[in-house]
Amino acid sequence: MQTLQPDTPHIVFLFSDTGGGHRSASEAIIEAIDLEFPNRMTFEMVDLFREYAPPPLNKAPEIYPPLSRLPSAWGFGYRQTNSPRRIRNINNMAWPYIRRSIYRLMEEHPCDLIVSVHPLMNTPVLRTFKKRKYPFITVVTDMVSTHAAWFDSRADLVIVPTEAARQNGILCGVPPEKIRVIGLPVADRFCQKKEEPMEIRARLGWPQDLPVILLVGGGEGMGPLERTAHAINSAGLQVALVVITGRNRELKSRLEQYEWKIPATIYGFVRTMPEFMQAANVLVTKAGPGTISEACISGLPIILYSKMPGQEDGNVDYVVNEGAGVWAPEPEQVVETLQSWINAPELRWQAASACRRIARPQASREIARILAEYVGVKKTE
Ligand code: UDP
Repeated sequence: MQTLQPDTPHIVFLFSDTGGGHRSASEAIIEAIDLEFPNRMTFEMVDLFREYAPPPLNKAPEIYPPLSRLPSAWGFGYRQTNSPRRIRNINNMAWPYIRRSIYRLMEEHPCDLIVSVHPLMNTPVLRTFKKRKYPFITVVTDMVSTHAAWFDSRADLVIVPTEAARQNGILCGVPPEKIRVIGLPVADRFCQKKEEPMEIRARLGWPQDLPVILLVGGGEGMGPLERTAHAINSAGLQVALVVITGRNRELKSRLEQYEWKIPATIYGFVRTMPEFMQAANVLVTKAGPGTISEACISGLPIILYSKMPGQEDGNVDYVVNEGAGVWAPEPEQVVETLQSWINAPELRWQAASACRRIARPQASREIARILAEYVGVKKTE
């Protein structure tokens, strides 16, 4: 049981389950605080959309998966809103409608620090902060192509994963001294290697004698996951396939009924991604920032098979330019890349070592130490 001092600082994390990345980032930071400063702070995670937004905005977590499957519409919306002026106008228009909800949120969650890991929560919340007595920190969970909505210069600090994101923040008007490049917060289990890959495979019942291809489409099973799985199955590659369909249950049951020619295991949403990444040989995925960062820490070479237009464009360039992976938007290209990486494993190893070079395994803990400073908690030796 925790023994807390009466004046234990309390931190509120603003997130939403629009995709898997915002929740993963908040949980990773909370875990890091617990590891670095056990029992010294308390936390709450608040899904601002689900718990506070008026209809239909409260349905954002449900609307996000079908919307994200319409890439042209998503890309159009992203481009049309991606400037500080447009974001200001949108927030001004929305304010009369959302104002009461935001004030209620602030009343019901008194705290010593707010940490936002969602782009759409910064400006509305900071607008209520005229007489505030505690700080607001944004942790940007997009990697490179960071939307203007992330950047509100009234935040006390904006933490970003890459230099490109820092430049975007400065272009959007955040003073350079308020932006720090730290990395994307990732769960500690990705950074610890407690079991050998073959032990993990034996425990999970995965083949020991074939390269394992891990196929995952973010938290919602997005991208042409089904077509890609079928193409890998039909290509006659000497591989085993592990497919993670995330929260997409229909896709899971379709894939479970499929007649596989290669060893294939299908999972829904898993809580064991660190072990899966440590045990696999190649990751085939959509260009989600969380998944890419986790793969880099795990030294897992990446084939990117889809991206959310706008939001994830820069992630593809980043992975490809750094040599950590390949862009293969058609299932046939995924198969070709897998074939070449099987024929010439040194190509796969080169990509794996590029992953390790750009990985930032300390990001969660560094962020934890920054938040501790803001609430006046010092490390006890
Ligand atoms: N994830 C998970 N279990 C799953 C599928 C995904 O824990 O079954 C996690 C994944 O490890 C990553 C996050 O969900 O941390 C997905 O974030 P990302 O930024 O890659 O994509 P998003 O889903 O936010 O678009």
